[in-house]
Amino acid sequence: MLLFGLPPTKDDDGTAAYDMRGPVQQAVAALKAALPDLLVITDVCLCEYTSHGHCGVLDQAEIANDLTVERLVRTAVSHSVAGADMVAPSDMMDGRVAAIRTALDARGFERVAIMAYAAKYCSGFYGPFREAVDSAPMFGDRRSHQMDPANADEALREVELDIAEGADIVMIKPAMPYLDVLWRVKSRFGYPTAAYQVSGEYSMIKAAARNGWIDEERAMLESLTAIRRAGADMIVTYFARDFARALGKG
Ligand SMILES: [Zn+2]
Repeated sequence: MLLFGLPPTKDDDGTAAYDMRGPVQQAVAALKAALPDLLVITDVCLCEYTSHGHCGVLDQAEIANDLTVERLVRTAVSHSVAGADMVAPSDMMDGRVAAIRTALDARGFERVAIMAYAAKYCSGFYGPFREAVDSAPMFGDRRSHQMDPANADEALREVELDIAEGADIVMIKPAMPYLDVLWRVKSRFGYPTAAYQVSGEYSMIKAAARNGWIDEERAMLESLTAIRRAGADMIVTYFARDFARALGKG
């Protein structure tokens, strides 16, 4: 299970992200108490918590990288204190994987793993998620830290950096429009690789099925199979429950 937080109040610096009474911290503690064997992963970013919807602390209209990393570290530590098994930094700031790894190790959380959003593209497929967590940027966009869809080589460099910084799993996001990137990353590094089938990918299948244009279960299975075939060892998907049901395990 991968948790994202939607705090009751947001501020400029996203301080709710590392509040021990925050929604993710409380949910992790409750889930681990009720279901100790459930693997709980937490999203680590500030965009769900900032009033302006950007992924970090702003200096004028720019994201201040190092200040943001400091807050991401506090967020990852607070999730670990609450009991998270794995943290997933989705922000794409420079140097955050190493900073989080160092801080977790120093506090005795050597066993908390890091799943790094290593190649996160500036994509048009994130719309439904941003609406759900009310995190669409109030101005500008995420081009300063998310990747250009036309650039595949940069993904390999970003993945290499995150592995060197101590990531346990690298993630490609979105999935279906970037299957070539997924394939290249898995072939090049042979590293545990995840792909995130994002809200827009999911919604397109749901909406088309609702209109009677496609068979939902068949399209779901085909899309997940394609992501797996392209090299994903694990898939983050809103279809998780439907998929389990289709396999007769849900
Ligand atoms: Zn973000």
